[in-house]
Amino acid sequence: MAGEPQADCLFCKIVAGEVPATLVRETETTVAFRDINPQAPTHVLVIPKAHYPDVASLAAAAPQLAADVAKEAGRVAAEDGAEAYRLVFNTGSAAGQTVFHVHGHVLAGRGLQWPPG
Ligand code: 5GP
Ligand code: ZN
Repeated sequence: MAGEPQADCLFCKIVAGEVPATLVRETETTVAFRDINPQAPTHVLVIPKAHYPDVASLAAAAPQLAADVAKEAGRVAAEDGAEAYRLVFNTGSAAGQTVFHVHGHVLAGRGLQWPPG
């Protein structure tokens, strides 16, 4: 069922505390933790605790939860002292998505090129 934990999902395991992660924020509905392979001084992943595979399916099924993720991304950046940041949702393997539990990458703390590669 949409939103239910998936046994084979790495980020569901992080939500459950079964895989360790460096948490930076937690709310009733979201978790934010540092990326294991950071691409910028601030590289934090913001996820809903509920499992949705990508940002579009999250927004379609649970718009308030999508808003919670976006709001938390802003708080993560602010708490890391970032005035500017990039929020990225890789969607689909050809776009670089490797974990199919929706996550926003909060990237900040260095110059960020536009357009991205
Ligand atoms: P994607 O490629 O799906 O957009 O992003 C997945 C991200 O998850 C990657 O940036 C990768 O470094 C990160 N990642 C993969 N495994 C782990 C893990 O076990 N812990 C943490 N904190 N991040 C992970
Ligand atoms: Zn999951």
